[in-house]
Amino acid sequence: MKKYVIDRGCKKCCSCLWACPAQAISLTRDTAVIDQAKCRRCGACVESCPTEAISVYDLPAQTSPESENPPTKK
Ligand code: SF4
Ligand code: SF4
Repeated sequence: MKKYVIDRGCKKCCSCLWACPAQAISLTRDTAVIDQAKCRRCGACVESCPTEAISVYDLPAQTSPESENPPTKK
């Protein structure tokens, strides 16, 4: 299972908001954020981001995104 996280360098350009088919991304005052409950793990946001601000993490199959186990950076 993959987890998509906006964790660095977001310029709030909104490209990922338009690219996301699930409307899972919203803007806060400082950055864009992904609603993990809505995310379909399609990867479209990663492709759309001009600043490579979106990271993909591999999660163990049996754990949820909220697991206490830290994800491994891909
Ligand atoms: S992986 Fe797909 S569904 Fe999830 S936030 Fe990115 S574009 Fe939206
Ligand atoms: S596409 Fe990248 S820089 Fe633009 S709002 Fe999304 S995460 Fe931020």
